[in-house]
Amino acid sequence: MKKLLVANYKMNGNINFYQKVTKVLNKIKLKDTVILCPPFVYMPFLKLKNKNIFLGAQDISNIENTKSTGQIGGKMLNEFNCKYVIIGHSERRANGESDWFVADKVHNAHKHDLVPIICVGENTKTSKLDVLVEQVGIALSKAETKEIIFAYEPVWAIGSGEQPTVSKINKALTIIRDTAKEFGFDVKVLYGGSVNAENYQEVSKSNADGFLMGGVSNKLDEFVKILKGE
Ligand code: PEP
Repeated sequence: MKKLLVANYKMNGNINFYQKVTKVLNKIKLKDTVILCPPFVYMPFLKLKNKNIFLGAQDISNIENTKSTGQIGGKMLNEFNCKYVIIGHSERRANGESDWFVADKVHNAHKHDLVPIICVGENTKTSKLDVLVEQVGIALSKAETKEIIFAYEPVWAIGSGEQPTVSKINKALTIIRDTAKEFGFDVKVLYGGSVNAENYQEVSKSNADGFLMGGVSNKLDEFVKILKGE
């Protein structure tokens, strides 16, 4: 099965880096689908010619109103041929983004034919996975019947070098898929949290439909290894 491999570059890189990413990734042969999510301002420098690579954004405005200083709307993302958008990343949730903000963003993504990649996950290693049910339910409350991707991202595993076991990842994926099904959605679910070239084979044993990667996407050589399945 073709996996979805998503690069969340966060607030990293510069023009030179994204030009280099373009050069390298346009040349490689891919068996999976790759989605690159740079900071908004660098989108024009990713000139993607590889049919397996798509552009994604790291966020979208929760309000559809021109009186929104600093926000980026779906219509703008369409102009850059952006197809996907990450919503509800834990780094944004830590900045005050509620589940209801996430629901509005999912609604706005669908309104502009963008595929939302909705991040959900428990805060600590010992937190119960029940929180996923609430996060998924609210995120879907204003969604249209269009494509939706979730990313199971335990907050404690992001950038920490720690990861849940494959069996815990599978348990979380099942909760997310089952909850979405109750709302009438058949969703893909990715895993995200400290994925790198070294542990890629191990996390690939899970039932995830792909991976959302932060830190490693900024290390081009290592990221390419993952894309090539090396
Ligand atoms: C992320 O930020 O979504 C993420 C998964 O980061 P990292 O791979 O660095 O843990």
